[in-house]
Amino acid sequence: GSTIGIIGGGQLGRMSAVAASKLGYHVHVLSPEFPSPATEVAASVTVGAYDDPATLEDFASRCDVVTFEFENINAEGLALLEKRRPVRPGGDILRISQDRIAEKTRLSGIGVSLAPWRAVNGPEDLPELETLGFPLILKTTRFGYDGKGQFRVPDVEALAALEDLPYPLVAEKMIDFERELSVMVVRALDGTVRCFDTVENRHRNGILDVTLAPARVMPDIARQAQDMAAQIAEALGLVGIMGVEMFHAADGSLMVNEIAPRPHNSGHWTMDACLVDQFEMHVRAVTGLPLPPARRHSDAIMHNLIGPEDMARVPAILATDGASLHLYGKSEAREGRKMGHVNTIFPRGVLPGELALEGLLPPRG
Ligand code: ATP
Ligand code: MG
Ligand code: MG
Repeated sequence: GSTIGIIGGGQLGRMSAVAASKLGYHVHVLSPEFPSPATEVAASVTVGAYDDPATLEDFASRCDVVTFEFENINAEGLALLEKRRPVRPGGDILRISQDRIAEKTRLSGIGVSLAPWRAVNGPEDLPELETLGFPLILKTTRFGYDGKGQFRVPDVEALAALEDLPYPLVAEKMIDFERELSVMVVRALDGTVRCFDTVENRHRNGILDVTLAPARVMPDIARQAQDMAAQIAEALGLVGIMGVEMFHAADGSLMVNEIAPRPHNSGHWTMDACLVDQFEMHVRAVTGLPLPPARRHSDAIMHNLIGPEDMARVPAILATDGASLHLYGKSEAREGRKMGHVNTIFPRGVLPGELALEGLLPPRG
């Protein structure tokens, strides 16, 4: 078939759609909002709610294969889609990644190390969190992103003072990490697994700010991170791309933070530093095409453009040599909203050790 269906109207859907059309596919997008970043570049669109059966029927009838950028399709909706068309990656991976408790349980079962955690189903579970140690962090089990739905708990007094929390939650020990790393891993229908290079991520106000590719870690750490991502992809029977976020602890150990079975913000650097980027890899995987090695031809720094203050930098970025600008076509630059990103690329091996990251971009507006 030649129509790829993408569920979700955001920037990940937009960039996936562009990659799919590059390979000659017709792209059909399902979005509750019109216009949206993805509908603006799609060849055709179904507009409707993700949980509306008639909308999903209409969408499925227009596609040969279904993938998504929006992870929160409910179980009934997923079942309906899976009856009609191949859904890649498979619905059970979605079900795991929708729920932090299911995800952590599954990842532990695979044998991957995680930050120590407990399920917190109600206030009665709070006192025993003391055994995890402080500081700790509480996270809503569903629908959290960009650090939303998280509560930091510095000590036992703060724990005792907590009230009216949105249960169920997951509690994690705060890891005193050296670095946050991530790996984009992609698995084809035939089982071929490819990993992009391990990268290093910096967050600001809970939102990804900067990605450095490659990560400035010893080669064996970078390799371990890739091996861990590949192990998860294989164990879950992934078809498509997945982001695996990790903590590199001070003692050198790696712990998985979370997985995202879709293109991921920490993979945007691939758009300008690889011949075949994360979006094309994803499209190739879900449509059954071969995957080339995930080769990086350049070093890269990705900066997210968030909210009105970063949008004020756009004219200067456009005038900067070596900066590749990607905008998502969002009309309103609200505070904390991801509006686009900039990739600055360097010849391999040139990414400076302790460079003045901020010096690479004009100051925030
Ligand atoms: P995303 O937008 O990546 O989906 P999210 O809302 O799902 O974000 P997490 O990735 O779990 O949230 O956490 C956001 C950030 O908060 C992490 O990247 C990390 O910087 C910090 N963080 C989360 N959990 C921990 C932890 N256990 N120890 C230390 N830092 C943490
Ligand atoms: Mg997340
Ligand atoms: Mg995260």
